[in-house]
Amino acid sequence: MSIRARALAAGLAFWLPVALQIAHASTVVDAKALSDQTQGKNWLAYGRNFYEQRYSPLTQINTESVKRLGLAWNMPLPRDNSLVGTPLAIDGVLYFTGSWSVTRAVDARTGKLLWEFDPKSIEHAGERLRNMWDSSRGLAYWKGVVVIATIDGRLIAIDAKTGKQRWSTQTTDPSKPFYISGHPKVFRGLVFVGNGGTEQSAARGYVSAYHITTGKLAWKWYVVPGNPADGFEDPSQEMAAKTWTGEWWKFGGGGNVWNGITYDPEFNQVLIGTGNGSPWNRKVRSPGGGDNLFLCSVVALDADTGKYKWHYQTVPGETWDYNSSMDIVLADLDLEGKKVKAALHAPKNGFFYVLDRSNGKLLKADKFAQVNWATGVDLKTGRPIEREGARYEDGEELIYPSPFGAHGWHAMSYSPRTGWVYIPKQEIPAVFNDTKVKMVDWRSPYFNFDPGVGMGLDNDVPKDVAKSSLMAWDPVKQAKVWEVAQPEFWNAGTMVTAGDVVFQGGVTGEFAAYDARNGTKLWSVNVGSGISAPPITYEVDGKQYVSLLVGFGGAGTSIAGGTAMAQFGWAYRAQERQLYTFALDGKAPMPKVGPPTFPKPIVPADFKVDPSLASKGSELYVGQCVWCHGSGAVSGGYAPDLRASAIPLSLEAFKAVVVGGAKVPNGMPKFSDLRDEDLKAIQNFVRHQAEVTTKAADKAAAQ
Ligand code: CA
Repeated sequence: MSIRARALAAGLAFWLPVALQIAHASTVVDAKALSDQTQGKNWLAYGRNFYEQRYSPLTQINTESVKRLGLAWNMPLPRDNSLVGTPLAIDGVLYFTGSWSVTRAVDARTGKLLWEFDPKSIEHAGERLRNMWDSSRGLAYWKGVVVIATIDGRLIAIDAKTGKQRWSTQTTDPSKPFYISGHPKVFRGLVFVGNGGTEQSAARGYVSAYHITTGKLAWKWYVVPGNPADGFEDPSQEMAAKTWTGEWWKFGGGGNVWNGITYDPEFNQVLIGTGNGSPWNRKVRSPGGGDNLFLCSVVALDADTGKYKWHYQTVPGETWDYNSSMDIVLADLDLEGKKVKAALHAPKNGFFYVLDRSNGKLLKADKFAQVNWATGVDLKTGRPIEREGARYEDGEELIYPSPFGAHGWHAMSYSPRTGWVYIPKQEIPAVFNDTKVKMVDWRSPYFNFDPGVGMGLDNDVPKDVAKSSLMAWDPVKQAKVWEVAQPEFWNAGTMVTAGDVVFQGGVTGEFAAYDARNGTKLWSVNVGSGISAPPITYEVDGKQYVSLLVGFGGAGTSIAGGTAMAQFGWAYRAQERQLYTFALDGKAPMPKVGPPTFPKPIVPADFKVDPSLASKGSELYVGQCVWCHGSGAVSGGYAPDLRASAIPLSLEAFKAVVVGGAKVPNGMPKFSDLRDEDLKAIQNFVRHQAEVTTKAADKAAAQ
């Protein structure tokens, strides 16, 4: 052998193990990997893999060992606010999106930051910031590329190793108030995304898919039909238009796909859960009635072309802000001896649906929560049996569930071991009344849009307004198996493992593990701050970890808010946000994140509330401010409590922030069209609310 050959052989011998090591360490995240339900090392996608079950086959942490769970490490996130996302775990690296879609890669063993990517969402959003929250629920990964969807509507591909941008595509019309809070999904070389925002102006919901290598548009599908005079984009639009009446296109129609997206590898289809009508009230949107397709439906689209395949509409003629935007879980069920490729779905409306996903046929639909808008679902026709009066045709109606739903976007999980679904369930009513709404004159301008036609957001949301629970549900028997009561609403999404442990965090700040078989609480830790994100689990170097983002956030803490949420003390910026990672025998001390804080409303002796100004201010508040500052000006923690803020006390300071945009970098939008008299009216409403809520609190304390 020549010296050269020997050197080469030696070199190969030297390089081979290293090469093998690298090959071993890097998982190729493609359709094969994302279809593999048996690997437990990585959490590769939003619902762990294509099946969206949030079920992990890992067993190191199990019903016996879980009591040894302790903190392995924590990563403080001082600039973040609303943390609702599902991180991904790939080959020992965690990837997650924080507030304003800021994305980080972190060593999963130590919490060491590897890179951070700031898409500068606030700057990109510009004036559209007024229609956006900071929350981002997740991201996607495909062959070494991380894909994020920014709150302002961009898809951005990032190199997973370096954190450098590869491409960026604006997926929404920047002249419309679309935003993205949901996760993108990658399959077969395409990245797919929906959007939100049709409640903020007249806009038409749609979904779109882009080539993963270039960011170029592959296909687009509209959820609702446009003006027939402009022609239809495809036959499904023509079919849908037959179910609308009046001049619906003037109101946009709505129907965004803002959350539930599942890729089904067995039928090469994307299952999307569509949103509510815009506006909510069908009498305005489609005055002659009609089912209004494809609102509030599960729709299957061909994954390669975006062509319509089938749909099942959970709420024909939606009029309560009901969505089918909740997660869609794929599972193989044995139904009365028949093997079924099922899609499991528990949308806002309170019914649990089992669909045959080969054709969209409804197999089962039963109430899983308190429901009074319908008495049941006719399995023959697939249609709900509506209760008379439920459409608030005779004036005020108390309806269960509320627009917050019996189940929101907080993900459910499914264990193939128990065959049960673990649902974060909530029971909260809403009052609907449209007797004062002028249907004929109703307009949906960009400014002063009221999404809740007939539903008041000008009052505090009181304590104990809701009941909630973690519920194990049998989708075959369509029955509750066990239930653990929880306070209020807005408890977070769940995860279940082959160790028969269900994990969930909630509004009290408790992160807990339950026995998947009977609901017994096996372990818990209080993280000292409200939890709004679901946990994930993964394995590095033979050790199983559980990671969780903590930052009280989302609609429960923003548009809802009120005393129901404020009672826990998770006031705006009061507790530092964290990424926690737990493991067996973890010994790291829990960090001090800041004490529970209860903003004290200011009631100045020299301010006399003008009732007519306060009433005008209430309308403006509900149109603009309530989205972040909470119902009745009682903040749930997403934004400062205006009753306790010194800023609205001085009209000059108030104007500098609201009209001048002094706090835009913090995420407080600029409302340059608000006039001095508008500010004065809002000021009076805030002072009125400070007085009313202080009196109510004093009365409660005296009792
Ligand atoms: Ca809605």
